[in-house]
Amino acid sequence: MLGRVLNLHIIISMNINNVFTDARQVSRDLADFIRRAVTPWHAVAEMERRLVAAGFVPLSECTRLEPGDRVYDVAFGSALTAVIVGDSPAPVWSIVGAHCDSPALAVKPGADQVAEGYRRIATEVYGGPILNTWFDRPLGLGGRVWWTEGDSGRLSVSLLELETRFVLPNLAIHMNREVNQGVEINAAKELLPVYAAAEGRDLLTLVAEAAGVDAAAIRGWDLRFFDPEPASFLGDGGIWLQAPRLDNLMSCHAGLEALLAVAAGGDRPGGDRPGGDRPGGDQLGSHAVLFCADTEEVGSRAKNGAASLLLRDRLERVALLLGAGRADFLAGLDRSFLISADLAHAVHPNRSELADAASRPRLNGGPVIKSAANLSYITDAEGAARFGLLCEAAGVPSQNFSNRSDLRGGSTIGPLLSGPLPLPGVDVGTAVWAMHSLRETAGVLDQAWFCRVLAAFYSRSHIP
Ligand code: ZN
Repeated sequence: MLGRVLNLHIIISMNINNVFTDARQVSRDLADFIRRAVTPWHAVAEMERRLVAAGFVPLSECTRLEPGDRVYDVAFGSALTAVIVGDSPAPVWSIVGAHCDSPALAVKPGADQVAEGYRRIATEVYGGPILNTWFDRPLGLGGRVWWTEGDSGRLSVSLLELETRFVLPNLAIHMNREVNQGVEINAAKELLPVYAAAEGRDLLTLVAEAAGVDAAAIRGWDLRFFDPEPASFLGDGGIWLQAPRLDNLMSCHAGLEALLAVAAGGDRPGGDRPGGDRPGGDQLGSHAVLFCADTEEVGSRAKNGAASLLLRDRLERVALLLGAGRADFLAGLDRSFLISADLAHAVHPNRSELADAASRPRLNGGPVIKSAANLSYITDAEGAARFGLLCEAAGVPSQNFSNRSDLRGGSTIGPLLSGPLPLPGVDVGTAVWAMHSLRETAGVLDQAWFCRVLAAFYSRSHIP
């Protein structure tokens, strides 16, 4: 513990200005990523754009794979797997797993309504947003639309983001005197963003215009409301980043940047597992894998969620294209390692009694290792030890999180990926305030450190 504190102290005191300047570049790129990734479909499209620019090719186009190959796969528009093939053809994997969806308001079928001379949209709550953060601010609307092409009747899909901004107006305090004592928000009555006078254009017209297709050709859509405002740097010296969808675009971004850093370095991943192989095992090279799943905020059970067979199927496909047999694939899982990346709760300075007495993560304190006795996080002693070693070797501080023993915590994709595959791993993430608020706040240093430690994980040769 003392070593970690000293390490952090040295990193910060040696060159605090440079550290923050460099880290702010990473956070600016994160902010740009978040602004483009307004829905899970946009997030995966943006990741695909960056991967293609770095020379990754679709897995579906490959008939065999060799060391150094870079492939990716997009499933159902919102689940991404990207792999850099390591030096050894053995199917052993260094996996970073994250989720690309965020709590939101989802547009219902037949949502366009007129009330009191205004147009408004009926929604359902997606996941667990802090609802009162959605009122009295500009709301964007976007997603994907399915439409038929000309006479062929062929279905196509387009991503879109409307220019129109929506609003959920609060009640005046004179009509809602109890609001500051906490008032329940009724999703059916109160979560209908307003956007026009009754005689204004309807939603179908706006969607058709945004997608650039004929309104009559539209057959269906998946639309979500989101915060369109850019991220802000807060705190003295701009040491914190406040942005929408940090949960869990921070982890998608960190995993992607780590993978791209390894690709840009021209090195093939091929290091051993952090801390070496398991007692009695062989040293083996490994393939760098990023897996970003959708639907975590609603339980991960969909075809593009972490509880599906998607990751297992994609890994097996890569193994077969490398010439490995099924027995090799199954044997390789035990020698692989999963870093399940999702956010953690930082101690709240005004409500610190809600944090565990011993584990009190801070913003800009480094990646957080998350543990729970009920195994809602996969972290065990081995996983924590290996991730701790990785952080030390990468010159990155780390912190610990566990729930206050009388509070029920959250969950994430770690157990859903680690159990069924099965493979060992750890649950980690960056610390934030106000998880599931429309705007969450994180430490600028933390994202840079997280990118660095994940890059080290993918390519142990990069560790000094
Ligand atoms: Zn999350």
